Parts: sequence; structure tokens; C-alpha cells
Amino acid sequence: MTQAQPQVIADYKPETWGAFINGEYVAAASGRTFPTFNPGNGEVVGHLAECDDEDIDRAVRAAVAAFPAWKKKTGAARAKSLMKLAQLVEGHGAKLAELESLNAGKPIRDSKAIDAVTAIDALEYFAGMATKIQGDTIPVPGPYINMTLREPLGVIGGIIPWNYPLLQAIWKIAPAIAAGNTVVLKPAEQACLSVMYLGKLIQEAGIPAGVVNIVPGYGAVAGLALVQHHLVAKVMFTGSTETGKRIAAEAAATLKPVGLELGGKSAVVVYEDAPIDQAASIAAMSIFSNQGQVCTAGSRLFLHEKIHDQVLEKVIEAAKKVRLGYQMDPVTTMGPLISAKQKDRVLGYIASGKKDAKLVYGGEEPKGLEKGFFVGPAIFDQVQNSMRIAREEIFGPVLSVLTFKDEGEALALANDCPFGLAASVITRDVGRAMRAAQAFEAGNVWVNAWGAVSSMAPYGGYKNSGYGREMGFAVMREVTQEKSVWVNVR
Ligand code: ADP
Repeated sequence: MTQAQPQVIADYKPETWGAFINGEYVAAASGRTFPTFNPGNGEVVGHLAECDDEDIDRAVRAAVAAFPAWKKKTGAARAKSLMKLAQLVEGHGAKLAELESLNAGKPIRDSKAIDAVTAIDALEYFAGMATKIQGDTIPVPGPYINMTLREPLGVIGGIIPWNYPLLQAIWKIAPAIAAGNTVVLKPAEQACLSVMYLGKLIQEAGIPAGVVNIVPGYGAVAGLALVQHHLVAKVMFTGSTETGKRIAAEAAATLKPVGLELGGKSAVVVYEDAPIDQAASIAAMSIFSNQGQVCTAGSRLFLHEKIHDQVLEKVIEAAKKVRLGYQMDPVTTMGPLISAKQKDRVLGYIASGKKDAKLVYGGEEPKGLEKGFFVGPAIFDQVQNSMRIAREEIFGPVLSVLTFKDEGEALALANDCPFGLAASVITRDVGRAMRAAQAFEAGNVWVNAWGAVSSMAPYGGYKNSGYGREMGFAVMREVTQEKSVWVNVR
């Protein structure tokens, strides 16, 4: 369905956004706001209500009050609401994409082609899920029938990062409300304009007040208050491993389950039989997409010694073709990093790489883009798996290239890593590909590919990349609890 698209921002005027609580936008109880920026030029592009404990409490209580009626609705009724929201997101796709690029720094062509489109797909998919939540009948011994009921948990607290704000918001909200839960969502302070705008569409879709609440604020205040709140049944978090550990520890006090989608240091393993062009293009895409600010970024590229030089040369060629620039320019393929802090962090890793390994491309600060937080592609060769640039998540377009001699060594090196979010293998040999798929200690494996994600397929991490799953039937189990009912038939 297509609708007239709202006018695209020509010269954008910063707006002030209240918190979206109980179906309306309200100022923070303290009256405080905080600014949010355009990472491409450092300008303020909005002011947000700075929520604290009191606002979180108000939002959680609104979600608690909305829960019984929302839970009681039929799955079909909840599905209709989600479909309506999908149509509205489609109708406002251009505006959402612009806000996303303006505030999160991602190239406008990606926001339009990827983020807005994937958000609609997820809403439609989880609309379908609302009518497919069911239990089992179990042939227990004795005079009983046992059956299970799948029930919503109550209020789900969602906490999301800044790299895919709209998508992350939908991935938290859609499955949760499809199952009959209500939600309090805390977007990231760095980039939340698209998520605040989503509140308007939630209103317009007729989703009852309190079913979805959006509370902007700082992690250590608003995020923490949400995790600590005794009326929040579960926290679903996406972000860094460090913050995830803190949240899990904090949630233990109220015995809240948590779902954690955390960081990564994903391997791309290229065997000697791999098609060189395909391998290089997958490797480049895996580290340069979204400025490398992707949890599954293929930041460790393992090349067999026989094809090392050819693949590396082509990855460097791909890096040369990256068009680093202002994110609202349609020809830009790499925008700024999210913040000055993130830029410093990435430059720190580049400095560390220069000491330890061999810089073969980039690594200089780009000229003429000083107002924004830009760092172009950087490629290090002769990296050892023990080096900082090979072990720590950089979250920038910095590639570490490592060399291997045989399959056993490649898989051992790929798995010698604290993270376990994703891994890719590139080969024409199906046996070798499947052995890698079995051996990788990672929640997502791509064969001759990188980065494929769908609402239909489970997504999540092993090891320090977290636990719990998003997407597919897997997330529906995460947002429901199972009740075992025994019926005596005598
Ligand atoms: P980054 O360091 O890249 O900002 P984080 O993992 O810290 O990534 O942030 C992801 C999300 O977690 C953001 O919405 C942030 O505000 C929130 N957050 C940060 N610290 C905490 C905390 N102590 N408790 C709850 N949420 C937090």
C-alpha cells in the first residue's frame, strides 16, 4: 500500500520531543531535556525529555494498566493493529529514513533501502505471529491430560542502541505486543528521533494508550530505572557486552529474566578455493556497512595463505571505492560515526593497530569533514589473533586481516575469541562449509554470505555476545511464559 509521503526535510528545524507515555507526548517530570546531534556536522537536531526514575515509573504504570485489556484481545485484533502500524511506517518511510540518517549518521540510501523496508517487513511478520501463539498437549501417564498455555509476561522493558534505532525499536516492540505484552522502550540517547516519531504512528494506528511507551533518557538513569523497576517482567536489551553484563547483574535483584543481544568480533574465513571477487566483496561489505557499527561486523578476516594477496588487494580496491561523506547526500556510501567519543575510540584502535600490525590502507583522518565524526576505512594486515585490534570490538570500519594455512587452524583461530555473535565461511566445498558451520561458536553463521537477517530466522549470540533470541518463533518463546495445566479426566 502506498500513501502520500510526508515532505522530506529540506532545511530541518530541531523539534522538542516529550516522552511518549500512555498515548501522549509529555515533558519529563523534572522538566529537563537533553540535546541530540547530527553526527555529520555536530549540530543539534532535537531536544528530548530527559526521563528519570519518576518518568520511568509513570511509563511502567501506564504499561501495567494497559496490559489486561491488551492481553485479552484476540490475536487477530492485535494482528490488525500491527498491520495498521506497518502501513503507517510504509507511508512515512521517507520521513523515518531521513530522521534515521540525520540523527544516526547512516547514509540516506541505506536508511531508505534497508532500515525503513526491514521495519515494515518485521511489523508484518509479527502481525502474523499474533495468531500463531499456542501450547502443546502432552500424553502424560495417569488419568490426566496435560496441556500448556503460552501467556504474555506483562510489561517488557526494551533498551536499544543507536546503530539501527528504528529497526531495533520494531524488533523489540512488535513480537512483544503481538504476544499480548505491553512495552516501555528506552531508545539510545545518541539517536532516537525516528523512534520518537514512531510514537505518532503508534497513536495513529489506534494501538491503545499505554501498550507502547517510549522514554528517552540516559542509560545510567532512565535505562537503569527500567531494569530496576519491580513491575517490569523482563528486559530485552541490545547493546554493548559491558552494559549487558551490568544489566544482567542489576536485573538479578528483582529476578527479572533478560534477553541480551551484545557485541561481536565476527570472523570471515576465506578458503583457498573461494571465488576471489565474491570473497572480497563479502569481506568489504561485512566491515564497511553502516561505518562498521554493526554487531555482526566481519572485523576479523581470515585468509588462506594461497589467496591472501589476491583477496586483500580486492578488499583494498573496495575500500578505495567507499564514498565517505555527509550522510544526507545520496551518493554517500559511508557516513560519520555516531559521536566524537566513538570517533576517538576508533582512532585509538587504529593507533594501537599501527603499533602492532601493518596498516595497508587508510588510517588517516579524512580532510574537509572535520565538523562531523568521520573515520574512513582502515585495513591492517599481519594481524595476530592476540592483538587488541583482533580481540576487542571496535565498532568502526577497521579490518584486521589474519592468515592461516589449513582448516583446523582457521576454525581454531575463528573460535579463539570471547565473542560468538556471527561467522562467515567462503568456499565452494560444501563439506568444508558445513564443517565450519558446525564448528563455529557463533549464533549466526553465513555460508558464502554475510549479514543476511530476516524476521523469520532466529538471531542471537553465543559466549559474550549474549543469550536469548530475537526473530522468528524463537523470540515468541522469549516474550511468553509457559503454563502447564493438568486435567484429571476421571
Ligand atoms: P554504547 O556504549 O555504544 O552507547 P551501550 O550498550 O552502553 O552502548 O548502550 C546501549 C543502550 O543501553 C542505550 O540505550 C543506553 O542508554 C543503555 N544503557 C547504558 N547504560 C545502561 C545501564 N547501566 N542500565 C540500563 N541501560 C543502559
